[in-house]
Amino acid sequence: MISKLSLQHITRQYVSRTGTTVALDDVSFEVAQGEFLMLVGPSGCGKSTLLAIAAGLDKPDGGTAEMNGKTIAGPGPDRGLVFQDGALFPWLNVQRNVEFGMRQQGLSSQVIRERSQRYLSLVNLSKFSGRYVHELSGGMRQRVAIARALAMEPEVLLMDEPFSALDAITREDLYVELQLILDRTGTTVLFVTHNVREAVTLGDRVILLSPRPGRIQSEFTVDIKRPRHIDDPDVARLAQQISFAMKGGASYYNQEEVDDYDENLS
Ligand code: ADP
Repeated sequence: MISKLSLQHITRQYVSRTGTTVALDDVSFEVAQGEFLMLVGPSGCGKSTLLAIAAGLDKPDGGTAEMNGKTIAGPGPDRGLVFQDGALFPWLNVQRNVEFGMRQQGLSSQVIRERSQRYLSLVNLSKFSGRYVHELSGGMRQRVAIARALAMEPEVLLMDEPFSALDAITREDLYVELQLILDRTGTTVLFVTHNVREAVTLGDRVILLSPRPGRIQSEFTVDIKRPRHIDDPDVARLAQQISFAMKGGASYYNQEEVDDYDENLS
């Protein structure tokens, strides 16, 4: 296994007048090259903080965060970011938005043009390259944001709830699209979500965090054939196991207890 990202013994706390919040307490994990790793957990368990540390936008109070064996000192073109709201520039059209990061990188205009066309085609937006942000649906905006991040050809894509503001149908389309794109590009992904079904639909592995202090509660390997759909029975089954662990606080999995839990729900 070639490790792309390595976060070891990460601690992070926030001090305010009312006290200290331990957001992360001794969290360690690695993301392998080409792996799609999901961080799930309830709101406030430190998912976004971990992603920000991997992005170089935040620093841990303790522990180490490395990319390709080197300490992460700040943001860099080796890590592409996609957030919930897409964060597109309203004064630029779709193509210019996708080209923005590449221009900052100083790539040649030929490379910029070629890549923007390729990645817009990959997210099925070639016909919309001249449109402005206000002319796009929420799903199209997120696809532009994904194309913009991919066009930089980062080694790792860091995604923080990129689909949570979208309607269910658009989201389902993007799940399939993203799996196909990543299969083609081989990009490594660290993806944060509170949606367990989404985590199982997309991830090779799911890390479940517990809140306050944020710690790794358990880890699940997703051995289900791709492309997966959110309604696949195998996806539903594993998502149920993870939800059970999340709600019950159990750090182990026991089928009998899950069955009891299901019966209590119905
Ligand atoms: P998640 O993404 O899982 O919802 P976050 O990483 O955003 O969790 O936050 C983890 C914990 O740290 C929460 O309890 C949150 O209130 C706290 N926290 C995050 N950022 C700050 C900050 N800038 N100042 C104070 N507390 C913060």
